[in-house]
Amino acid sequence: MKRIPITELPNYIGKKVKICGWIEDKRIVGKVMFLTIRQGLETIQVTLKKTGNEDLWRDVEEITRQSSVVIVGNVRKFGNKLEIIPESVKVVGLSKTPLPLDPSGRVPALLNTILDSRALSIRIPHIYAIFSIRSKVTNLIRDFFANTKGFIEIHTPKIIASGTEGGADLFPVEYFNRTAYLAQSPQLYKEQLMLGFDGVFEIAPYFRAEKSHTRKHLNEFISVDLEISFANYKDAMNVLEELVNYVLENIIETAQKEIQILGHRPPSPPGKIPILTYDDSLEILHKSGYEFEWGEDLDSDALRVISKEIGDFFFIIDWPWRSKPFYIKRKGDKLTESFDLMYREIELSSGGTREHNVDQLKKNLSDKGLDPSIFEFHTKFYNYGMPPHAGFGLGLDRFLLVITGRENIREVVLYPRDPERLEP
Ligand code: ATP
Ligand code: MG
Repeated sequence: MKRIPITELPNYIGKKVKICGWIEDKRIVGKVMFLTIRQGLETIQVTLKKTGNEDLWRDVEEITRQSSVVIVGNVRKFGNKLEIIPESVKVVGLSKTPLPLDPSGRVPALLNTILDSRALSIRIPHIYAIFSIRSKVTNLIRDFFANTKGFIEIHTPKIIASGTEGGADLFPVEYFNRTAYLAQSPQLYKEQLMLGFDGVFEIAPYFRAEKSHTRKHLNEFISVDLEISFANYKDAMNVLEELVNYVLENIIETAQKEIQILGHRPPSPPGKIPILTYDDSLEILHKSGYEFEWGEDLDSDALRVISKEIGDFFFIIDWPWRSKPFYIKRKGDKLTESFDLMYREIELSSGGTREHNVDQLKKNLSDKGLDPSIFEFHTKFYNYGMPPHAGFGLGLDRFLLVITGRENIREVVLYPRDPERLEP
């Protein structure tokens, strides 16, 4: 017999079906037993009468809550809901009690308890909802890049011979008889590919050996990377703005149930996202009595002040050269053709026009204290007809933090990695 998902049961009223799920709840009222069977975000009531079903009743009474079961029975209308009158209830995976957390979600668990028992935690409806939204957002992003824009999805290596921006924050790995590193970003590869592709994107994990203990940093995170050729930073910002709007417009439609269970509406699509320069931001800060030295990175407090003034989503462009990496195109002496996309105090994305002139690129390397001869493996491609290009990296986990309205990035990542957590 074919297994029927709970969502399809309305098509089977008066018919016999097979359903699968977990016993979330079991109540006995006199001679009637009510089981709540959960399957993801859906539940169905199974109603068993003792009279005439003594054997089945005895078996079902023994089954612990949270065991997985396969039930065959008839679908019936029960008020404005449905119920199943079981013919057989087969336990396929017995659950022991007590469990490390309450899968019904009635007894809230601490984040650490949830993470320690991550696989079990996905039975908690709002946690299931978070990861279902995550999956849907990833699909929307892929759909936007591939189908709407016609960009090429690439897969660059995550084990690499040297870092993107010199030695800092790299995780070394033993690679036969030499040291390799885990990739911090696909930056150099995606730029090199501008030799032939119009637009490329990659959704992949990256690794940064920073000892951060914040609600928005992990040592392994997923980045959504884009690079487009014959383009500058304004073009890349337009694509990013379109992407953010596309995801926020569509997720509300495609994840209605998840959003309802989560009890948080994602931010409305921002439409045109306000743009201010780094200098504009400093002016706002000065006006608010916030002293900030020119050239410094903007910290969370500063971004909060700016966001109060400007709104939730905003771009900050034209960052000081000293705060940006060597591959960014310079704008005059002190500035760069760069942008960050913020949501309140959270940096969602960084991007910019890339330096595509090979001599200037080498000069940039020297200016950053890096040895151009070590980057020959990369800069040589800039001699083969490299067009101007631009792109960005968008933190998927941070975007999900914003979409789901959770507090901590660890809540939207199945198996987060931070300085203290390497398991499960
Ligand atoms: P931050 O200043 O917040 O540490 P960054 O400027 O070092 O971030 P980028 O190199 O610009 O990060 O990376 C592009 C995007 O990738 C960031 O805007 C962010 O969304 C995401 N990202 C970077 N580092 C992390 C991290 N440690 N954990 C989660 N997401 C990250
Ligand atoms: Mg950045």
